[in-house]
Amino acid sequence: MAVASAALLLFIPAAGTATATAAVPHPPLIGTTHNPGVDCRAASCVALTFDDGPTQYTAAILSTLEHKHAVATFFLIGPHALQYRADVLREYRDGDAIGDHTVSHPRLTLISAARVDHEIEAAARQIASVTGHRPVLFRPPFGALDARVPKAAGSAGMAVVLWNLSPQDWKHHDPAFIERAVLARVRPGTIIVLHDRYPTTPPAVPHLIDALRARGYRLLTVPQLFASAGGLHRGVLYKQGPSP
Ligand SMILES: [Zn+2]
Repeated sequence: MAVASAALLLFIPAAGTATATAAVPHPPLIGTTHNPGVDCRAASCVALTFDDGPTQYTAAILSTLEHKHAVATFFLIGPHALQYRADVLREYRDGDAIGDHTVSHPRLTLISAARVDHEIEAAARQIASVTGHRPVLFRPPFGALDARVPKAAGSAGMAVVLWNLSPQDWKHHDPAFIERAVLARVRPGTIIVLHDRYPTTPPAVPHLIDALRARGYRLLTVPQLFASAGGLHRGVLYKQGPSP
């Protein structure tokens, strides 16, 4: 309740006059409804994120998350969301966070500003047509960024979320390798990128969740990760969450 009130107070002036906006230190808070009840400045938190889905491999990951009462963040390709609506709705109902990962997965640095806007906006509409909610998180394909990308995402009402740990599951099709690569480098606040588009990623997830929890980590969505540390702001780039 306190979080929602604070967000509202910040949002109203920012949506008003230029003078009021200038008094707000950051762009408006977004995704503030996901209070996890844990402060990641005091506890060790990590966020598992999955890109490029949904695909035929997504359901297995969702079953694991449900079975283990864990949540994750999924960055969806718009047409995939339309093709695998049931999986998107399952993510939504499970409390997973859902972000925008464009329509056609281009390298945004290589296309026109108008096409960048289209890739973000059209995917947001496709996702919203399934969940009823516009995503507030955006992840650029390949992590490819230039100055236009946060600006475009911000205009579309989204924060830009990258990662600071990749086990390169797109290259290493080996669940044991994926698990070892994550555990060797994970630290409090880490945002881990995986992909629900390869058959070798879902088998890594159960052990990964168990091993992270055994090391004392709380698994949160990206908005939850930042909820106690000022939240997420549209047009701002995030690669790593808060840590003790
Ligand atoms: Zn991708």
